[in-house]
Amino acid sequence: MSVCHFSKSRYCACIQCPKILWLREHLPEDEFDESVINQTVLDTGNDVGDLAMGLFGDFTEVPYSEHLSDMIPATQKLIDEGVKNICEASFAYNGCFCSVDILRNLGNKKVELYEVKSSTEVKWIYEHDISYQYYVLTKLGYTVKKACIVHINSEYVRHGKLELDKLFTIVDLTKTAKSNLQEVEKNIKKFRKYLKSETEPECEIGGQCSDPYKCGYFMHCAVDLPESDEPTVWDIAGLRTSEKQKLYEEGHITFKQLYDSDVLKGKYLQQVEVELLNLPPQIEKKQIKSFLKTLSFPIYFLDFETFNPAIPLYDNSRPYQQIVFQYSLHYIEKKGGKLKHKEYLAYSGSDPRRQIAEQLCADIPVDVCTTAYNMGFEKGKIRDLAELYPDLHDHLMNIHDNINDIMIPFQKRWYYTKEMQGSYSIKYVLPALFADEPSLNYENLEGVHNGQEASDTFLAMQKMNEKELAEWREHLLRYCELDTLAMVKVLEKLREAVK
Ligand code: SF4
Repeated sequence: MSVCHFSKSRYCACIQCPKILWLREHLPEDEFDESVINQTVLDTGNDVGDLAMGLFGDFTEVPYSEHLSDMIPATQKLIDEGVKNICEASFAYNGCFCSVDILRNLGNKKVELYEVKSSTEVKWIYEHDISYQYYVLTKLGYTVKKACIVHINSEYVRHGKLELDKLFTIVDLTKTAKSNLQEVEKNIKKFRKYLKSETEPECEIGGQCSDPYKCGYFMHCAVDLPESDEPTVWDIAGLRTSEKQKLYEEGHITFKQLYDSDVLKGKYLQQVEVELLNLPPQIEKKQIKSFLKTLSFPIYFLDFETFNPAIPLYDNSRPYQQIVFQYSLHYIEKKGGKLKHKEYLAYSGSDPRRQIAEQLCADIPVDVCTTAYNMGFEKGKIRDLAELYPDLHDHLMNIHDNINDIMIPFQKRWYYTKEMQGSYSIKYVLPALFADEPSLNYENLEGVHNGQEASDTFLAMQKMNEKELAEWREHLLRYCELDTLAMVKVLEKLREAVK
């Protein structure tokens, strides 16, 4: 048996940038920035992969073995027995190992390959993935009748039992894989030569560092970055990666270089200038005053938390649809009035939307001024609920139509400080405005500090015992409460600024 030098993922990593694999083999593990790995995405991929196994009916899965080469004879046995659908069917040719997500065994060495992805479209790298598998199987003497990507169909709406044939879309890439046969062989040769290099290969950072995946060796490869924590072109908020790359290659790297060379304009220049020259807060009173006039009492501050399961859990929901499971609501009934608070948090396990919609209508009267931070999100979720529940439609749409966005003065830079670092996200704005108030610092919360953690927590709650549940519900409630308290405080700051 030949040694397995390649696998689907190692081959695809080399397609992105062969240096990734070289560094993986030569650097200590801690040189890799683990933050580029999104565990939620990985878990979703596993869940989707498990579900897709049943796409063609009964199947047999080749048991996973740490010694991948053990999976090859196990696969062969199933093929010989005439098993029709084999999952994780494993093969190796000349040091190239591959596990096929779903192999349809048509008999007489004729097969179909299905690679399952949890995305909702075919990304460019998938063509390389399937081409590699096609290559391995073809070289082993199989006739590959079909080589396909299976991905999630974002249009699917669940009604009752999951219909796998509708939840998944199959894209036939046989022609592409066939035409790439020689290229795969050439690539493997090229990558093998590259990986043999004794010294670290030279490779400029570029678009490949984030496409299709963020590379965890970026800080290692970005050799021209200053050693101090001086901000650089990579810290400019909102600027496209390709633009940053261009400026980096031209030698405009530190904020000082960027400022001196006069290559930036508008909000990008403002970020660099304010930070570099340590300028005081930039406040446009006239604009803020007009904005404040659009708000009136009673005033409500609303924030939703959502989760978006790849596999729709409830009737009338789509893959990856954001489902509201929680809200926080602060409100002040009249000028100078007391700040009050209401909240709702569903229990994991059943569809929370009807309860949320009803509670929202009970908590927010019609024709009042409601605010959100980045209102497009809250408005979108309210529209979804209104569409779903016609009896609550008018009330929900009344709330929707009366929402104002507290984010606007920061997005438009009518209020800007260097601590915002070019961002208008509440996660930057709040600490920038209230640096000395620990109670307004997300980092001081327990358990849940951002929307992703909130979403992960809600999903994880399905498996928690009573004690854990009580603890984590409290963490979720306090996190969401801070989101709306932040809006109250930010509004106070805006009012102070125009006094
Ligand atoms: S950071 Fe960029 S250049 Fe360096 S290994 Fe990763 S992809 Fe390649």
